[in-house]
Amino acid sequence: MNGYEEARILLDSSKRTLVFTGAGMSRESGMSTFRGAGGLWNDFSAQELSSIDGLRTNPAMVWEWYGKRFVARKGVVPHSGYSALLHLQNRKGRLPVVTQNVDGLHQAAGLTEVYELHGSMRTVSCLDGCGFSASFSDDHLSVLPPKCPDCGAVLRPDVVLFGEPLPERVIRDAFQLAADWADLLLVVGTSMLVWPAAGIPWEALQAGVEIVELNPEPTSLSKAPGVIWIPGRAAEILPGLLEE
Ligand SMILES: [Zn+2]
Repeated sequence: MNGYEEARILLDSSKRTLVFTGAGMSRESGMSTFRGAGGLWNDFSAQELSSIDGLRTNPAMVWEWYGKRFVARKGVVPHSGYSALLHLQNRKGRLPVVTQNVDGLHQAAGLTEVYELHGSMRTVSCLDGCGFSASFSDDHLSVLPPKCPDCGAVLRPDVVLFGEPLPERVIRDAFQLAADWADLLLVVGTSMLVWPAAGIPWEALQAGVEIVELNPEPTSLSKAPGVIWIPGRAAEILPGLLEE
């Protein structure tokens, strides 16, 4: 029996499947990850544009950057790998998804239990923390930087910026699901290089959870005992793997 067949059987019989996704999942839908700043952004490193300090000291510039990402996101639709996950959610009744992505594509596909480790581009809130929060819309890009209608402070995208901790509760829930709840972890499209997110599959493995990993290239996880690595792309492999 090859890895693919073994994975199909495990996914079929699993009672509590947890999904863990990374940037590869987004990229297959054509989401640019905006790595490396060039052209317009010559004087500003990508890290500065995505940092809490950058937002405080140069909010208009940071917002111009996020505005471009927001506009780029608008034409992007979830690929067939997301539909396959939705199919699995319908089969299992519950399918928690822990993701490092901020684009909301899982929710756009209909997945209902999504843990966003790095926050979300779908909403904005008050940088001064007055409590204002709203969906990210084109209105927020008409005058940069957008201001909080309640207190006049600058608004922020609800993504985790460089220099900020990950949302504590989301991290705790994700690790708990991996170690105490799941009987199978499906890892998709992550390089396993970004911490602490990369610790989640290792935590699951240590707890005796079966792992199926789908990535075009092997990662640090792929050869670990107890891991079935399937080389390939989510949009190509997931439909056959998850649908009856
Ligand atoms: Zn405010």
